[in-house]
Amino acid sequence: MSDSFEEPLFPAGTHTLLTHGGVLRSPHMETSEAIYMTSGYVYRSAEEAESAFTNDGSRFVYSRYANPTVQMFEDRLRLLEGAEACRSTASGMAAVFAAIFCSLKAGDRVVASRALFGSCLYIIAQILPRYGIETEMVDGRDIEKWRAALSRPAKVVFCETPSNPTMEIVDLKAVAELTHAAGGILVVDNIFATPVLQKPLALGADVVVYSGTKHIDGQGRSLGGAVLGSAAFIKDHLAPFLKHTGPALSPFNAWIQLKGLETLPLRVERQCRTAEEVATFLSAHGKIERTIYPGLASHPQHDLAKRQMRLGGTMVAFDVAGGKAGAFRFLNALRLVLISNNLGDSKSLTTHPATTTHQRLSPAERQTAGIADSLVRLSIGLEDSADIVSDLETALAAV
Ligand SMILES: *Cc1c(COP(=O)(O)O)cnc(C)c1O
Repeated sequence: MSDSFEEPLFPAGTHTLLTHGGVLRSPHMETSEAIYMTSGYVYRSAEEAESAFTNDGSRFVYSRYANPTVQMFEDRLRLLEGAEACRSTASGMAAVFAAIFCSLKAGDRVVASRALFGSCLYIIAQILPRYGIETEMVDGRDIEKWRAALSRPAKVVFCETPSNPTMEIVDLKAVAELTHAAGGILVVDNIFATPVLQKPLALGADVVVYSGTKHIDGQGRSLGGAVLGSAAFIKDHLAPFLKHTGPALSPFNAWIQLKGLETLPLRVERQCRTAEEVATFLSAHGKIERTIYPGLASHPQHDLAKRQMRLGGTMVAFDVAGGKAGAFRFLNALRLVLISNNLGDSKSLTTHPATTTHQRLSPAERQTAGIADSLVRLSIGLEDSADIVSDLETALAAV
C-alpha cells in the first residue's frame, strides 16, 4: 500500500536537520541541547538594558517573548516545515486560536470545514461570532461547497485534514486557490498528518498549526503547540498577539518536544506501517462494519490522500458490530491497547468519540459528522504490530 504514496518517503537531509537543526550551544559546549529554565535575563549595565528594549529581538529579555530552548524547538520545526517563521505556544489549542484570531477584527468573515476537533469547532461556532466575526462551515470534502462559500470575501479559512475522528480529507491545493481568490489566508490544522507526512505550505496554505502534545512529543508527556507561516504574518500579526496575551511554551516542554523532533519521522513511519496492517486486518474482520483509513483503497478519498500525504497516517477508525454496546464490549476486552482520548503516543490508545471527544454534539450533529455509536478511534503506538492485532482480535471475539 505504502509504495503507492509519494517517494522518497522523506526528502534527503530530513533526519540530519532534525538532529542538528536550530542548535544554540552554550559556552559549556554540551552535546545535547540545554534546558534554559529561566524567566528573565540580566544586563551588565542600565545602558545594555535600555538598548535591549529598543533593539527589539536582538537578545533575550523575557521568556514570555523568547527563550533559548523554546527558540531551538521553533527553529528545528521551522526547518522541517520549510516555513519562514515559527512561534510556539503552551498547547495546540493556544496555537489554533492564535493562528485564527490574531489577524481578525469585527466584521471579518471566516470559513471552515465542519469536521473539526471539538475545541476548534467551539472557537469557530461559539467564540468568534461573539466578537462580530461571521463564520460559515462547509463539508470539507466537497470542493463545490468551498467554492460557494468562498465566492464572497473571507479573511481566514480554516480546515483540518485528515479530520478527527472520521479522517475526511480536504483538497488543500484547491482550497488554497479559492481562499486566495476570496482575499484570505488558509490556516491548516496539520496535527493528524504530522509535519513529516503532509506539507500544507507547499500545497499553497499560508499558515500551519500543530499540537506538540501529539506526535511531536510522541510519548504523552507534555502539552505544547506551534504556528508556522510567512515572516510577515508572524511579525505583523502572530508575534505581537502571543507576546501580549502570553500563552508561552515552557522551556522544559519545549526541550521535550525539541528532542521528540529528532525521532519524529522514525516513529511516525513505523506507526503508519502498523496502522496499515491493523486497518487491513480490521477491514477483513466479520465484526467490523466499516474501516476508515486514508491509506486503504476503500477510503472514499484515497486518491487525494495519496496525492497530498506521504503515508496513510497513524490513526484508524472503525465501526464495531452491535452499536454502542458492541463498541463498549470491545473496548473493555482490550488488554494491551489503552482507553484514552489522547493520540500520537508511543502507546496505542483508543477512544469512543460519541461518548467522549464528541459527546457535546447533538445526536443529529454526530450523525452529520459520521460519528455513529459504533465508531471507535485508534491511535497506533510503537508496540509490535502482531501484539496490537492479536489484542484487537481477542477483544473482537468478546463482541
Ligand atoms: C489535540 C488536537 C488539538 C489540540 O491540541 P492540544 O495540545 O490538546 O491543545 C487540535 N486539533 C487536533 C486535530 C488535535 O488532535
